[in-house]
Amino acid sequence: MRAELKTPSPEDGRPGIALLVPDMPSPKALMPWLQRMHEARHYSNFGPLVCELEKRLAARFVGHGRGRPAVTTVSSATTGLELVLQALDLPPGSRVLVPALTFVATATAVLRAGHVPVLCDVDADSWLLTPEIARRACADVEVRAVMPVAAFGAPHDARAWDAFSRATGLPVVIDAAAAFGGQWLHDTALTLVFSLHTTKSLPAGEGGLVVSHDDALVARVRQLSNFGINLQARRKVPVGALAEAGTNAKMSEFHAAVGLASLERWDERAALRRDTFARYAGVLEAAAPGRLRWQRLAGGEPVAAPVGMCLRLPGATARSRFEKLCHDDGVGTRRWYQPLLTQMTALQPLCEAMDCPQAQAIAQDLVGVPFFLGLSPADQDRVAALLSAALVDRRHAPRPEVRHGSALVS
Ligand SMILES: *Cc1c(COP(=O)(O)O)cnc(C)c1O
Repeated sequence: MRAELKTPSPEDGRPGIALLVPDMPSPKALMPWLQRMHEARHYSNFGPLVCELEKRLAARFVGHGRGRPAVTTVSSATTGLELVLQALDLPPGSRVLVPALTFVATATAVLRAGHVPVLCDVDADSWLLTPEIARRACADVEVRAVMPVAAFGAPHDARAWDAFSRATGLPVVIDAAAAFGGQWLHDTALTLVFSLHTTKSLPAGEGGLVVSHDDALVARVRQLSNFGINLQARRKVPVGALAEAGTNAKMSEFHAAVGLASLERWDERAALRRDTFARYAGVLEAAAPGRLRWQRLAGGEPVAAPVGMCLRLPGATARSRFEKLCHDDGVGTRRWYQPLLTQMTALQPLCEAMDCPQAQAIAQDLVGVPFFLGLSPADQDRVAALLSAALVDRRHAPRPEVRHGSALVS
């Protein structure tokens, strides 16, 4: 059980507010898909539901660039990232540029693919690794691939990364785990990897999706996800023979059933996520006008389907004070993506680290507050009140009255 899914128990018995509550389709919504699975007697190995899900997901990219990209499902975004890296055939021990502010899986995928993560800084406004930062990093270190992260679902400028990729000859693989519905390929040679984890906006329980216009790369990832067994006729290796050393990273029909049910209501749920986010950000900002810092997306567009609410407080002390108030009130908070990858003892000996002043500054005061569909306006206001209480300017606050010899000193 992941701690963030539990509702904290408040000390005074009032219900707390969980940090995160998954938004999964109901058993009733799953039933028609499960029925289809049962009738087909096909439970894994690229069965009808996985193929249907892949077809529908590929169709989502039509209109956001040329034609229909190739897609393949995988068991998670993490295995997707690992297999894309393997399919790139970089020399063993290649350096791969990764932002220091991300979920651990971005770096572990690089390590498990036999490469060395080079941890670099992020942009102060967007909190993303940008092509400019990558250009500067590449002038100092010889990297062979770049893995930008759509941090907190914020999409990257695919065309800017494509220009970077063309100019440098380096493959760019975007960890777009939380950016489904907002990160597009356009007419680029990038590869995108999305997560269908239960905490993301298109939940299948567990699952991932690899998307690219490079058909051969996607076919290779598909083969690697099926142990490395060749699945295509017209290749030198016969169908069913082992072509290379892969793993089992297939999506099951059970997960595809959940993914299909989620996809059917994704647009409606995404709109609700955006509405909840907009109102909530508004009340939080009003609780501390001009004193919070928000992730700013290029173009100023909202995240397509936010799965979290992160804000920067005015300093580390204010953050600690806020976290304490939340904790005592049974309100979940989380320092998402922290500590930075550069600070993790399990990663330090295995990675190279560049200077990361912006990421370090963000890690001083970034905090995630409860966010999920069904977070009521009253609960949003409660978090805002805690924020306002934490940010009372103590220097100008009246000193508490101390009357010696009175009952107050008991
Ligand atoms: C959720 C997430 C992952 C991991 O996705 P899984 O599908 O659980 O493997 C990786 N990177 C980022 C940025 C994420 O948000």
